[in-house]
Amino acid sequence: MAEILDTDWDVFAHAVDVGFARCVVVGPAFWALSESEQVAILVHEIGHLRKLHVFSRLLLIPVLLCFPRVARRIAREQELSADRFAALHGHALPLLRFLTRVRGDPDRSARIAQLQAILDGGVDA
Ligand SMILES: [Zn+2]
Repeated sequence: MAEILDTDWDVFAHAVDVGFARCVVVGPAFWALSESEQVAILVHEIGHLRKLHVFSRLLLIPVLLCFPRVARRIAREQELSADRFAALHGHALPLLRFLTRVRGDPDRSARIAQLQAILDGGVDA
C-alpha cells in the first residue's frame, strides 16, 4: 500500500465527546484505508472515549493553554494509551501498519515503538 505523506491523524478519524454524546467522526482519507486499518483506528478512537481522554482535555484547557509542554506530554500519553487499548483488543498489527505509512503525527515514532514492543511480546497491552 502506498505511503501517505504529510497528513494528520484527524483526516482519518477523531473522537468527539460532548458529555451527553460520544462518537467517532471519520474523514475522507479513512475510506482509502484497508478494512483492518479502519477497524484498528476506530478501536483506537473508542479507546480515547472509554478512557475519557477527550473530556479530560476539555477540562484541562486552561492548563493546556498555559503550559504547552504539559499539554504535549498529556496528548502523547493519551495517544499511547489509546494504542494500547487497540492492541489489547487485537488490533496492534493493522494500527502499526497504518502508523508506518502516515506522516504528521508528532508521536509517531513512540507509537510505532510501543506497538512493535507489544507485538514482540516485550510489553503488555
Ligand atoms: Zn488518538
